[in-house]
Formats: sequence, structure tokens, C-alpha cells
Amino acid sequence: MELLQTPIETLPKTAPLTKNRLKSISINTYFDLISYFPTRYEDYSCIITIKEMGAAYDSGIEHVTIKATVSDFENIYTRRHMQIQKVKLVDDKASTTVTWFNQPFLRQIFRTGQIVSVAGSLERLDFGTVIRAQHYEIDSPEPVHTARLVPIYPAKRGLSSRLLREKIYYLLQRVNQFQEMLSDKILKANNLVESNIAYRQIHFPDNLALAEQARDRLAFDELFTIQLSSALVRESWQHEKVGTVLNRNKFEKTLNDFEINLPFKLTKAQKRSIDEILKDISTPKPMNRLLQGDVGSGKTIVAAFAAYLTHLNGFKVLLMAPTEILASQHFQSLISIFSSNGASSPSIAIITSNKKSSNEEIASANIIVGTHAIIAGKRKFDNVGLVIVDEQQKFGVVQRAKLKEQGTNPHLLSMTATPIPRTVMLTLYGELDISILDEMPLGRLPVKTHLVTQEKRQAAYTWINTQAQANQAQIFIVVPLIDESTHESMKNIKAANNEYEKLSKEIFPNLKIGLLHGRMKSAEKDKVLLDFKEGKLDILVSTPVVEVGIDIPRATIIVIEGAERFGMAQLHQLRGRVGRDNKQSYCLLFTEQQAIPITQRLNFFSKVNDGFVLAQYDLEHRGGGSLHGIEQHGISELALSTLTDVELINKTQKLAQEFVRNKYSLDSEYPILKERIDKYHNIQIARD
Ligand code: ADP
Ligand code: MG
Repeated sequence: MELLQTPIETLPKTAPLTKNRLKSISINTYFDLISYFPTRYEDYSCIITIKEMGAAYDSGIEHVTIKATVSDFENIYTRRHMQIQKVKLVDDKASTTVTWFNQPFLRQIFRTGQIVSVAGSLERLDFGTVIRAQHYEIDSPEPVHTARLVPIYPAKRGLSSRLLREKIYYLLQRVNQFQEMLSDKILKANNLVESNIAYRQIHFPDNLALAEQARDRLAFDELFTIQLSSALVRESWQHEKVGTVLNRNKFEKTLNDFEINLPFKLTKAQKRSIDEILKDISTPKPMNRLLQGDVGSGKTIVAAFAAYLTHLNGFKVLLMAPTEILASQHFQSLISIFSSNGASSPSIAIITSNKKSSNEEIASANIIVGTHAIIAGKRKFDNVGLVIVDEQQKFGVVQRAKLKEQGTNPHLLSMTATPIPRTVMLTLYGELDISILDEMPLGRLPVKTHLVTQEKRQAAYTWINTQAQANQAQIFIVVPLIDESTHESMKNIKAANNEYEKLSKEIFPNLKIGLLHGRMKSAEKDKVLLDFKEGKLDILVSTPVVEVGIDIPRATIIVIEGAERFGMAQLHQLRGRVGRDNKQSYCLLFTEQQAIPITQRLNFFSKVNDGFVLAQYDLEHRGGGSLHGIEQHGISELALSTLTDVELINKTQKLAQEFVRNKYSLDSEYPILKERIDKYHNIQIARD
């Protein structure tokens, strides 16, 4: 096992650049590299002679390997700065020429007299059948790139599939035995091959059936590790106790009055969720619940009920949001929600880096709103009964430990607008209880969504202008995500600035336009948002920061520039900025790209308004990694992407529960599994 823990630094015959690239995709040990799995295989196991190529083509064989001797290598320069490599190969009966493009270094391999192995697909040209080469290597009794099922790895950060294949092959040769993390009994019961077979066969399978068995086995491990980890966390929560149990019955009437005084009627889903949450927080077991509801479904008021009951019982509430804007908005919302309520209303304070209530206000506040950073500092919060976290599905293990250190073991409520498909929920969030707002407040109209190509852009601007002038429409214009990072980069801000200039000078000189981005001072942000909210601005140009949570009910149009760069979930979040009132709203997807899969995806998005359906679409078409929120979970992508495999999810979940129920000792009975679980925990903590 030691060998597998070896740092990737020490990988022999590997350039420092390659090592850095490996590390940049989180491959830090030999085991990490062996856990980088191929996405598919190309079958070049059919070995033929050059003379047989024609007949093979006629009988429908496509992929083949030929073994032959190099008789000539020619490097030809073309007029367009291309280089063509022509290699003449001969075997005992015939010869053929194989062509490559722009790979002059191949001269090193294809030396005259060298026996080589070339894999590719057969093609029929006027003068006969040729092989279009895909892979090559110097002939050897143990081929890696040809004459077999050749694994194809996802190429990333300049790491080619060929290089990865070579390194992984080398490592597999050196590992004597992969230790087994599950018992024989479990393997049998679940029809799984041993891990020693699985790790080898998933990379270099003897046949496709074995490759599939290997994949099944390792997918099982992957999901089982996560499920068991969640189950263990859940189990440990069961044994914890909150400081004091909140009394709900005593305040039933107060809560009722609060409800009656709201300016709207709660939806059924809101009532149900409120009930689930209040039930939870009036027991001694700490709540760990996720409130999931599409944008605009009204999560804030649900949270307010939980906060209110906590306050009525004499405990404080912390509400944390991912950004200052959101914290500030929650602060305003809570003030307005409780403003029409009676004397028992909580007092509310805010703490962000730029905006802060006075120390006395904070000390005496019943609800304290801030960014996630508020508990990271030195400040201590006594008597906290409930922590509410917005838009961060998993409340960090670290933050929780921090609060416990301070002597409070509060209830936790996380809220998210990210629709998480059920199978994903079961797998990745197994330790959470879930409440779902699957119903919109009455009277909301679905947002009309249109794809706007380059040619129609002008017409769209004209339409927007009319809407703004004739109908007082308010418009969000979102500039594209430039860097893939979730944080705002300087480039993004620059793009927003440019767009702002262009729109205000050239396109809508007659309209009032504001600009919003993450690096603005808090006071400026608030002012611009307030101006927009009060109708003093027609257009708000913004970086994708508007994505999460901003509530401007009067805005009815959102333009998303470079729509193809966003995942479905993000687009859906952005679209959710409009349609928050009972007026018809519109979402215009501006795109310069016309590639079919992109148009298809955006068209699908235009037709569907249900976040869960969109998330499922992304899950199926782009894999788990595309799901917003999964990166927060600590695994950017499940290597074997099995989040749609309900059967496997159920099987692994059952086994995880069995482990917990029967109190299997990981330390003594399942040390390898224990290592895996610890590693998984560490990744999660590191991400928080
Ligand atoms: P989100 O779930 O996206 O956080 P919010 O809590 O911000 O949604 O609510 C969106 C808007 O809907 C707010 O303006 C809120 O006052 C309003 N709202 C919430 N619940 C209802 C309801 N039951 N009926 C009508 N409007 C509601
Ligand atoms: Mg919200």
C-alpha cells in the first residue's frame, strides 16, 4: 500500500511540468493517478498484415493494428506552415504509407528498420485501402497504445491521453497487489470483482465485459465511500444534544398571529416546510436540515419562522449568506418581515466587512445577519440556538466545530435554490434532512425565454428600448462569466465596465443605466441596488453576482450575454431574478455560438421552467461535475459519474446503513475503507 501513497513528485522519467499539471488536477499520489479512469476504450485488438487491409475493410472491420518495419520517413513542409509526416511501412508481403500531421518528432520513433505497431481505422481511397493512424508505439510483447483495448483518458491541462496511459501503465506494473477494502461476503453479495482485478481491468481490460465489471466495482466503491461517510456523520449527530429544547406549543398563538399579519398567504409547501423545521427545532437532537426551493419560491419567510421561534425561546439566531449584497438584503427583508409584527419581534443586526451595526446593537440583537465569515473571526456568539446558512448546501464541518468550541450546539438550517436531483440528494447529502418548496407563490407567470443570435441582437435592443420607455420595464444585463472560477475576477469586472460604457453611450443613450460588481464598495453596491429597486435606473449591468438571491420584484427582463458559458443551473438562477412579481417577464439568451449541442441545450432551457428538470438534464448530458453546488461538496466530479444510477445508489446506501446499524469497526475490520473515508472527509473540510 505504501507505494500507492507515494507522492507524484517521485514519478520516474516524468518532466516537472507534467508533475505540476498532474497536481493541478488534484493528482498528488500514485493512487490518485491510478484513480484517474478512462472514459472509454478503442478496440485495436484486431491485428492484421498490410496485405489483409483491403479484405478486412470489405468485411466491415474498421479498427485494426498493423505491425511492420519502417522503411522510410519523410517530413514534408506545405505552403500553409503545415508539416506532414509520411512513414512507409513494410511487412513480409506488402507495404503501405501512413500519414501524420504536425508531429515532426515522430522521426525519433519511426527510424528505418524499427519494427512498429500502428493502430487506426481503415479507409478506402481511389488507389486502395489505407490506415488512418490513431496510436503508435515501438513493437513490444506488452503493447500499451496499440493491439489491444486502448483506454482513452480525459485530456486535461495539457496532459494528453497518451501520456496518462503511459504513466498509469507504468504504475500498474509496479503495484503487486491492491488491498481489498471490502469483505469477501460483501463482494459476493453485490456481485463485485476484487479491487486488485478492478484497478487493472478498468485501465487495460482484457475484454469489454471485464472493463464493465471493473467499472461496476469501482463505481460501487466510490458511492459507498460517500454514503458511508454521510451515514457516519448522521449517526454521530443522533447522539448529540442541543443546549436547551425550544418550546413550540407555548408560542403557537404568537406564530399564528405572525402568519396572519403577513402581507401574503403562505403556500402549502411553505407551511409544510415551516412545520417540518419547527418540529425539528423543538426536539433535543440538533437539526441538520436543507431547505430546497427554486428561486422565488419564498425561502426567506420560512427561515424567518424558525428564527422567530428560536428568538421567542430566548435564543439568538445567526443568518449567514455567501455575499455582502445578500447579507444586506436578508437584513432588509427580515426587518420588513417583522416590522408589522407586535412587541415580541426580534431585533436584528448586521455584520459585514463594510456594513456593521454598532457593538451595542450587535450585543443585544436577537438575529445577527452576516457573511459566512462572521464566525471565522474572533467574535464570540453566546446563546445561539439556530444557525441559518443561505446558498451553501453543506454547512462546513469546520464552522460547526468552531461554534461547538464556543459552547453552543445549535440547530442548523441550510437553504439553497440549486435544484438537486433526487438521486444526487440521496448520494451526496445523505446526512441532511430535506424540506422542499415545490410550489411557487400564487399568480407567478413562467418567464418567457428566447435565444437571441448575433443577427437578431439589434432587434432585441430595439425591443428592450421600447419596453423600457413605453412600459417602464426594468432590465438586468448580465455579462458573461469569463474565468471559470466561481469568484469574480478582474477580467469579469473589466468586461462589465466595458459593457456598461457601450450600453450607456452607444446602445441606450436615452436610458438610465447602473453598474454592479463584486469589487465595488458596499455603500456603492447598496446605492445602485436601491436605485434600481426604486425605479431610478432602467438597466442594471452586472457581473454574474446577481446570480444568487437578489430580489428586485419590479424587474421583468434579464439579458444574459454569452449564455452558452453558463451551466443550466446558473442560467436558471439568473432567470429567477425576474418573474418575481405577477407581471410577464422575459429572459433573453444572447449567444455568438451556433454549435448544435449549445443551441440544443439553450433551446431546452427556453422551454423548461422547472429547475429540477434542468438539473437532471445537465446531470445526464454533462455529468455530475456540471451540477452547480457539487463543487462545494468537495468532489468536483465523480470519476465514474454514477449519479443517475438509482439502483447502485440504493444498493450502496443500504450497505452503508448496515455498517452503521451493526456498528462495524472500521479501524479493526476495514482499515483500507477507513483510510478512504478519512481522505474523503479531509477533502470536504479543505473545501469549506
Ligand atoms: P427565494 O426562495 O428565492 O429566497 P424569497 O424568499 O426571496 O425567495 O421570496 C421571493 C419573493 O416572494 C419575495 O419578494 C417574497 O416576499 C415573496 N413571497 C414569499 N412567499 C410568498 C407567498 N406565499 N406569496 C406571495 N409572495 C411571496
Ligand atoms: Mg433567497
